[in-house]
Amino acid sequence: MSDQQFPYSGFSSLAIHGGHRQDPNYAHLSPIYATSTFVYDDAEQGMRRFSGQEEGYIYTRWGNPTFREAEEKIIAMETFGFTDEQGNSLALKAYLQASGMAAVSSLMMTTLQAGDKVLSHYSLYGGTQEYLNNLLPTFGVDAVIADLRDLNVAEDMLKQHPDIKLIYLETPANPTIQCVDIEALTKLGKQYGKLVACDNSFATPYLQQPFKHGVDFVVHSTTKFLNGHGTAIGGIFIGRDVDFMKGRTYKIYKALGGSSSPFDAFLLINGMKTLEVRMERHCSNAEKVAALLNTHQAVASVNYNGLTTHPDYAVAKKQMRHPGAMMSFELKGGLQAGINFMNRLQLCTRTVSLGTCDTLLSHPASMTHYSVPKEQRERYGITDGLIRMSVGMENIADILNDLDQALK
Ligand SMILES: *Cc1c(COP(=O)(O)O)cnc(C)c1O
Repeated sequence: MSDQQFPYSGFSSLAIHGGHRQDPNYAHLSPIYATSTFVYDDAEQGMRRFSGQEEGYIYTRWGNPTFREAEEKIIAMETFGFTDEQGNSLALKAYLQASGMAAVSSLMMTTLQAGDKVLSHYSLYGGTQEYLNNLLPTFGVDAVIADLRDLNVAEDMLKQHPDIKLIYLETPANPTIQCVDIEALTKLGKQYGKLVACDNSFATPYLQQPFKHGVDFVVHSTTKFLNGHGTAIGGIFIGRDVDFMKGRTYKIYKALGGSSSPFDAFLLINGMKTLEVRMERHCSNAEKVAALLNTHQAVASVNYNGLTTHPDYAVAKKQMRHPGAMMSFELKGGLQAGINFMNRLQLCTRTVSLGTCDTLLSHPASMTHYSVPKEQRERYGITDGLIRMSVGMENIADILNDLDQALK
């Protein structure tokens, strides 16, 4: 009911109540603060707000009470169930963003400057890849891309490129569902004095908490499992160094102008309340889907972290509560088999994106990566017959039936 500290013993209690403050008019759900600006009692108060002497809202691009609730709920979930060396729960600071890409670009703009380098791996969200490879170099920041699943390679890169400032991880990553070891890479990064960030969108804080392993920053596309219903684009940029977040990061947040919208924040807040229940269903459905695909004669291979045959099975098991609900699989018949399969789906939805109640399937070779030359996409594991699947929350028998008939 209120913003008083209650010792929540379970994740859902926190997901439902965390970050909430009693509304002055006693509304049950926090209202959508659909206002661009905030007023002052007198000129002196305006002065105190602008100078930072008094806490309070000024302008929605700079912050909004609806954003605050979403930010504090996500912080609560990212820090649930563990403490720092002193036994305190981690104090983090977050900014809600217009999209996952706004969160990624804010992270890069805040931490890097001309002459710096960023170290990352091959399998990354397409927008992030584009940002690292094509946009950052125009600002004098180069990306060093290597197979960070191999710690020796990671260390070699840190030795070869002393200008690396930030290590950027995404795990599990798109579309191969590859994982990197957050704890080991953070430890290595810290040995070399680097900042470490992790995109936690595929896992969500229910399945994986990168701050527990020592990372400095976490970014999310809240568009996916956090919102959970596909109703709004959004992102969040969270940092461990609160002074840095309130200083340089806040300045850049205001200057880039990528803040969320109160309505989208409201949708996100309410979507997140069911995160645990949704993830449990997504995950148990995913196990059964993977079992079907893994033995199906039309399927050549399955990328799912829960299968002992996945190369990153052990890493996923170590750092995730459950392997999650994202997978991809290779059809035996190549491009045409992929197209035929997609066309035969009846219950599952043909679309990109992920993390909604509905099961979503995409065929990268004919959709997102259609314009990428075959040799180039195959280097990233995007073969002709590859299908990516975000397993939804429908009744499992219906999902399995639909897949089975589409695979015939
Ligand atoms: C979707 C996604 C993004 C980008 O998020 P948007 O909300 O679409 O801007 C970044 N990282 C990952 C892992 C994603 O899945």
